[in-house]
Amino acid sequence: MRRWLLAALALLALGAGWLLHGLNDHPSLEPYAGLWLASADPGAAGPHVSVTFLGVSTLLVSDGETAFMTDGFFTRPPKTSVFFGRIAPDPDAIARSLQRADVDELAAVIAVHSHYDHAMDSPEVARRTGAVLVGSESTANIARGVGFPEASLRVITPGEPMSFGAFTVTAIRSQHFPHGMAMGEITQPLVPPTRAMDYLEGGSFSLLVSHAAGSLLIQGSAGWAEGALAGRHADVVLLGVGGLGTRDEAYRQGYWDAVVGAVGPRCVIPIHWDDFTLPLAEPLAAAPRLLDDFPATMTFLASHTRSGAPALGLLPVWQPVRLLGAGAARCGTPLH
Ligand SMILES: [Zn+2]
Repeated sequence: MRRWLLAALALLALGAGWLLHGLNDHPSLEPYAGLWLASADPGAAGPHVSVTFLGVSTLLVSDGETAFMTDGFFTRPPKTSVFFGRIAPDPDAIARSLQRADVDELAAVIAVHSHYDHAMDSPEVARRTGAVLVGSESTANIARGVGFPEASLRVITPGEPMSFGAFTVTAIRSQHFPHGMAMGEITQPLVPPTRAMDYLEGGSFSLLVSHAAGSLLIQGSAGWAEGALAGRHADVVLLGVGGLGTRDEAYRQGYWDAVVGAVGPRCVIPIHWDDFTLPLAEPLAAAPRLLDDFPATMTFLASHTRSGAPALGLLPVWQPVRLLGAGAARCGTPLH
């Protein structure tokens, strides 16, 4: 073999090694050990809302009578399939996850946008739980691609309140984090297996959840539409931080002001911080250093929650935590 070819192959191997290492290098969660939330009193009587974090921006929200879920993403395909292959919902991973989270029945599955790490599994989760599937027209086309019944589909009208039991959910038009990948609309039924990049964004929403016990804002992606949340209030913000660590201070501040600043919560809880190419059955790891900077995000959030107004917390995976009403968790300021 010619010497230049050997040199090129060696370089390629080195590059692949570097890439593999970078994609598997996860920042430690140890510095945030004091932030994990738990219900102050899981048996307290009275109206309450609990939230179970299930990775990325998949959240199970329940008041003990009615439950709904955002996204419902459980397949979490490995990096090789996401970057080079084709992906499809994994019925076993979905079934196992729903069982472990103790979910039989849901009033709704609401996809915050249509990227694969949000909406790919939503139809299968809705089908298994008898839920209405709520999302953009692109999410509807993901559902049509797997034969989901049209009668159980509800395309979002932004700003129009939807009732599920004692919950009122309003989807407000937002913007995706500006990474520029897989933007646009899914205009035809999307049939899996297909490339991850075929799951186009299809419009992003902030979800405002109102209940007698209080209110939540669920922000799946770290982007914003200027003024979209003006005049709204939420007691707790579940704040999507995916990619935020890669942006400068001005961007982070703009995001904070437009979302957290606008709704004035008492508690901010980062979500979409985990490496979603690893199975949910394993302990969650923060996004790899090559793709994000979770410590920088947490330093930013800590500096904005030092006074305790708002306070900061993290949700453990699988564990229902009361965030509103009777027995609700108390967020803290434990970062130094
Ligand atoms: Zn996305």
